[in-house]
Amino acid sequence: MAPTASNTTSSSAIDPREKKLDVPGQHKAAIFDKKGGPVSVRTVPVARELKHGEALVRVIYSGVCHTDLHAMLGDWPLDNKLPLVGGHEGAGVVVALGEGAEEFVKIGDRVGIKWIADSCLKCDFCRRGFEPNCPEAQCSGFTVDGSFQQYAVSYARHLSPIPDSLPLDQAAPILCAGVTVYKALKEAQLTPGQFVAIPGAGGGLGHLAVQYAVAAGYRVIAIDTGNDKRALAEKLGAETFIDFKTTKNLVEEIKQASGGLGPHAAVVAASGAAAYEQALDYIRSRGTLVAVGLPGGTDIKANVFFTVFRSLRIVGSYVGNRQDAVEALDIAARGKVRTSFKTLGLSELPKVYEDMNSGKIAGRIVLDIDK
Ligand code: NAD
Ligand code: ZN
Repeated sequence: MAPTASNTTSSSAIDPREKKLDVPGQHKAAIFDKKGGPVSVRTVPVARELKHGEALVRVIYSGVCHTDLHAMLGDWPLDNKLPLVGGHEGAGVVVALGEGAEEFVKIGDRVGIKWIADSCLKCDFCRRGFEPNCPEAQCSGFTVDGSFQQYAVSYARHLSPIPDSLPLDQAAPILCAGVTVYKALKEAQLTPGQFVAIPGAGGGLGHLAVQYAVAAGYRVIAIDTGNDKRALAEKLGAETFIDFKTTKNLVEEIKQASGGLGPHAAVVAASGAAAYEQALDYIRSRGTLVAVGLPGGTDIKANVFFTVFRSLRIVGSYVGNRQDAVEALDIAARGKVRTSFKTLGLSELPKVYEDMNSGKIAGRIVLDIDK
């Protein structure tokens, strides 16, 4: 698949399909039955009965996140629902409500389905705004069926309102990739003018991280591989691009690009384990390593002496809460961040996974769920 460096945003923010609120008996869904896949598109009944607090969302677009691929391959130390409809960057409209859901959304509302499908909103974590860490959290396209289907049941209180000025195809990748890197950059605790290294900068999360970082006034050192990803990262405002596959001395090059001392933070948005190997060596003393990318079976090896002596911080950052989603979408709606994507049909999901696995996708693939 030709990588994308431009996007194909529809000219009007409102897709004509957003006005069709009728619910058919059957719909299309991309389903896999066992760890390792394969995934196939099938016609199945639409959920008819909505429980308390649930809403039925007519999904029009969904981004494909590398997490969906990890889930299908089963390379994380967690079990998911099986059979499973993946997807957690869903954008569409509310078409039906269960009892109690009307407190949060109305029929016809433009909404997003993000990774955190639900959390209790009562526990210590939820009360403090750490909804992803809620012990009762449900995850879209992992513990509950997600957005790779035309009609998805979700929890009204965790749906994200999508601003009217933001087309649904642009909005979809913000619901996971955007909110995740927006929150991760907050965790980096940078001030304008400071350097941030972004391994994975040409991918779905990374290309949005470059833009949120630039919008915040940070100086970006993008790390990824290949000419398409270089062109994308540079177009989006990265000051330096370093190709991790061809560079002779990654640590030295990154230090040089940040005035000799190393970047103040690294937000690791890469899907490969190697991205974690050198990050602690190149960040400057008092710097922060923000772990975002989730390669299975990977350890961060931190030498105790140098962690203390150089006063380093290592922080895990896991998606974001409802408010982070609202903020990340608002920044996109104001045009400060734009998803670079190519649109394909839901039926092309197997090929998207293949290309994602071999690192061929620059930016994001957004699926038109009807195709
Ligand atoms: P992607 O496939 O779109 O992008 C990953 C990028 O990493 C690719 O461009 C690839 O070339 C690059 N890469 C691989 N190895 C690298 C290395 N050693 N150095 C620099 N770049 C390297 O994937 P994505 O959808 O952006 O997701 C990235 C990772 O983030 C996945 O592991 C995903 O599961 C994880 N993720 C985490 C969270 C979270 O809450 N922490 C949320 C969403 C996704
Ligand atoms: Zn994701």
